[in-house]
Amino acid sequence: MLPIRFDKSFTQQEAIPEDSIAAAIEVMRSGRLHRYNVAPGEESQVAALEREVAAWQGSRYALACSSGGAALRIALRAAGIGVGDVVLTNGFTLAPVPGAIVAVGARPVLVEITEDLRLDLDDLQRQIARHRPAAVMASHMRGHLCDMDLLTRICADAGVLLIEDCAHTMGARWNGRRSGSFGLAGAFSSQTYKHLNSGEGGLLVSDDPDFMARAIILSGSYMLYGRHGAAPKEQYFERVRLKMPNLSARMDNLRAAILRPQLVEIEDALRRWNERYRAVSEILDSCRAIMLPRRPAAEAFVGSSIQFRLPEICGEVARKIVADAADLGVELKWFGAAEPVGFTSAHPSWQYMETQELPRTDAVMAGLFDMRLPLTFEVEDCRQIGQIIVACVRRHLPDCG
Ligand SMILES: *Cc1c(COP(=O)(O)O)cnc(C)c1O
Repeated sequence: MLPIRFDKSFTQQEAIPEDSIAAAIEVMRSGRLHRYNVAPGEESQVAALEREVAAWQGSRYALACSSGGAALRIALRAAGIGVGDVVLTNGFTLAPVPGAIVAVGARPVLVEITEDLRLDLDDLQRQIARHRPAAVMASHMRGHLCDMDLLTRICADAGVLLIEDCAHTMGARWNGRRSGSFGLAGAFSSQTYKHLNSGEGGLLVSDDPDFMARAIILSGSYMLYGRHGAAPKEQYFERVRLKMPNLSARMDNLRAAILRPQLVEIEDALRRWNERYRAVSEILDSCRAIMLPRRPAAEAFVGSSIQFRLPEICGEVARKIVADAADLGVELKWFGAAEPVGFTSAHPSWQYMETQELPRTDAVMAGLFDMRLPLTFEVEDCRQIGQIIVACVRRHLPDCG
């Protein structure tokens, strides 16, 4: 017997907090939406957000951008990466990551992932030796941090820059240290489905004053960099202010006004995501066929989505499970599909780059399922979703316990 149908939307985020709405209305009343349009003595919403993000993250500097992808492009360019450089990144990530590498003229080389969806550090070392990359853009896809201490050491020993894509790990930690603080820079996204929601938006953090001065000019600061909220001192801009192209990727005050109250509440949101993740994972764990990624003790993750594997599954059965779950209102994404659907994360869809051989990543993705856990779901909803998934899996893999 199948459980009853689930009827909430997997793409419905929580409402924007009332404080955010009030602040956004205030910005609109003022007419000063552009981040450099300030009244005398006024700190813009964007500058205040940068100051608050840096304080929250524990980084010296922060820059607000128009999107997470823009933050990644700016990071690469500010790190001096461009034509002829190789940048290594995860074989399993979202399209804006290889997109950013290609956009600066560099060549993405994809690194295998492990069965636990983390960057495979053995393969990373092989690819470093083989390609002599300029940088590693570690993409903590779906919130899975690799051994960050080891990754940092590997990059430092090889003299390779480390940039973190923290679109799914904003607020996560490795051995107590925040994701985004291990390398030269960390990039976050405030696109609707991430841990903060301003529709579109990105944040870049770093402790390096030369890097951040270049990033700020690149973001489109003109000579108005003095109006930034968490920027290096004037002297760092002197050297670069006329040397960096303007990529025009600023955040505006409306978005920053929406984000600031959300940042105040983010720790609570992270806690609620993890409650929901646990509710689903406990039920999935009761089914022997379902493999959940192991979570190392050093990792404090944010369960804003959940992944599981059905190793050895064939396409036909995977499609049946997805279809049955959909009939019961549960939106599963299966990464083994041949054709890209929705947001693309499968490397064969990225035909603007060289075809890459990733047999182990492909094998993992052939049995990989993924689901969002928006905070509009109650913990009880998450239990129901877990039961639906287990029922659908048991129906098609009847020999599982
Ligand atoms: C969302 C996302 C980004 C950045 O996306 P934007 O939509 O440009 O903000 C980068 N990496 C990953 C893994 C993502 O999911």
